[in-house]
Amino acid sequence: MNLPIRLLPGAGESFGSYLRRTAHALGTTPRMLTTSLGLTPGETNSLLLDPATTHRIAELLGLRTSEIDDLHATRWHPTVLDLRLLGHPQRLHRPWIDTLNTRFCPWCLDENGYWRLEWRLPWICTCDDHEIWLHDHCPHCGSTQRDDAWAPRATTPVSCLSCAKPLTEATPEEADLDARRRTYAGQRLLAEEDSTIAGYPVPADTALRGWRQSIAIQRTLQRDHHRHSVEHWTAHEADRALEQAWPLIDAPDPATAAAVLRRWMLAYQRPWPFSAAQVSTFILPLRHILDDVRAIWGARGP
Ligand SMILES: [Zn+2]
Ligand SMILES: [Zn+2]
Repeated sequence: MNLPIRLLPGAGESFGSYLRRTAHALGTTPRMLTTSLGLTPGETNSLLLDPATTHRIAELLGLRTSEIDDLHATRWHPTVLDLRLLGHPQRLHRPWIDTLNTRFCPWCLDENGYWRLEWRLPWICTCDDHEIWLHDHCPHCGSTQRDDAWAPRATTPVSCLSCAKPLTEATPEEADLDARRRTYAGQRLLAEEDSTIAGYPVPADTALRGWRQSIAIQRTLQRDHHRHSVEHWTAHEADRALEQAWPLIDAPDPATAAAVLRRWMLAYQRPWPFSAAQVSTFILPLRHILDDVRAIWGARGP
C-alpha cells in the first residue's frame, strides 16, 4: 500500500506534525492514518523510530529513510541529545527534551502550517524568525499541546488538540534580545557549532548537559526550588532559569566562571551544598570549577 498523496516535509518539522498534515490532506483523523500505517501510540511522538519501522513507513509515505529520521529527535542523537537515556531513573541524566508536549509559534503555524521539532526542546524559548516568545498553552482553552498524531478527531494541523480552535490566534509577545540570544545559542548547539561551557570548549552534548547542571547549581545556591521539573517549564520560566545561570554557562574563560560561582557561594552563606557523589555526576569543566571554589571555600568556611 502507498498513500495516494505525498507531502514534502517542512524544514525542521516534527513527525507528529507531518502525520497530522497528511491526515488532514487525506480527509481523515490522525489516529485513523497512524493506525492504518501500523504505528503504535509510542511511535508517533517524534522521538525515535526503530530502523525497520522507519524503512517501512518511508516506503508507505513515499519518503527517504533519512527524511523520516529528520522528522525525529534522532536527528540530534547522540551528538546533542542521547536518546538511549530517555527512561533513565535520574532526571538529570535524561535527554533534555519534553517527551510529550510542544510549544508553538503562532506566526510560524500561520505561515508554514506545520510544527517545528525544536519546539519540543525546553531550552528553545523564542522564535528566531518572528522574534517573539513561543507559546505553551492554547489561547482559547489553556491546554498544552502534544506533538503526536494520535488524536481521534479531525482538526486542521494548526488547531488546538483539545478545543480545535486555531492556535494561530494566540497573541504574539515580543521577545527581548537577551532571550533571543540564549535561544540562538541553543540553536548553535543543535547545529554543533561553537559549543563552550564555563569557558571550556566542549562537544555540544556536553555543553547542553552543562547548561542544565549550571541551572541546577544556580538554583541550589539561590535555594530556589521550582515545583515543576525542567521539562515542563513554560518558555518564560525556562528562559528565566537560563538567564540566571547564564553568567556561568556563558563565561568567557574558566577564571570568570569560577568568580561567578564564588559570588553565588557568598550569597549562599551555608556549608558547601554539593556532595562528592553529586559533583561526580557533573561534566568535567563544572567539576573543575566546583573543585577550585571548594578548595577556597573549605579554607575560609561559610
Ligand atoms: Zn515563528
Ligand atoms: Zn484549546
